[in-house]
Amino acid sequence: MAASEVGGMNADEVGEVGQFLSTLLVLQGVTDIDAEDKAILVPKLRQWERAFLGRLAANTSNRCLALLTEEPHMRPMMQSVKTMLESCIQKCGVTSCPRVLQTSGIELLQCARCKAAVYCGKAHQKQAWPLHKATCFAPSF
Ligand SMILES: [Zn+2]
Ligand SMILES: [Zn+2]
Repeated sequence: MAASEVGGMNADEVGEVGQFLSTLLVLQGVTDIDAEDKAILVPKLRQWERAFLGRLAANTSNRCLALLTEEPHMRPMMQSVKTMLESCIQKCGVTSCPRVLQTSGIELLQCARCKAAVYCGKAHQKQAWPLHKATCFAPSF
């Protein structure tokens, strides 16, 4: 049986943190991360990856590890994800909605919690919430 908690965090928490961290790493790059922080994070991520095998937590830990250790095969992926994330920031969070900030000139509504998602208006913010909920994290660290 897999451990339910590792280092005081359960699989769901690790999954959330991992998702947030990998997004952060892609957007800001890893050059700003202290060697000291890396030395703490990498073993922790390895531990989580093993403990939560087969769960989201293991996937996100693995992604963070690959980003942190700057595996060469991650570079093109990082670049494309970065481009995608940056373009998403300018686009209404409802996938089918074509409204984009630069072309429409309209003020996009920012998600008050994560500030990473934007919408063309209240109606689409509401419509996207059930989906967005899963990836909406307050930037707390
Ligand atoms: Zn929209
Ligand atoms: Zn949000």
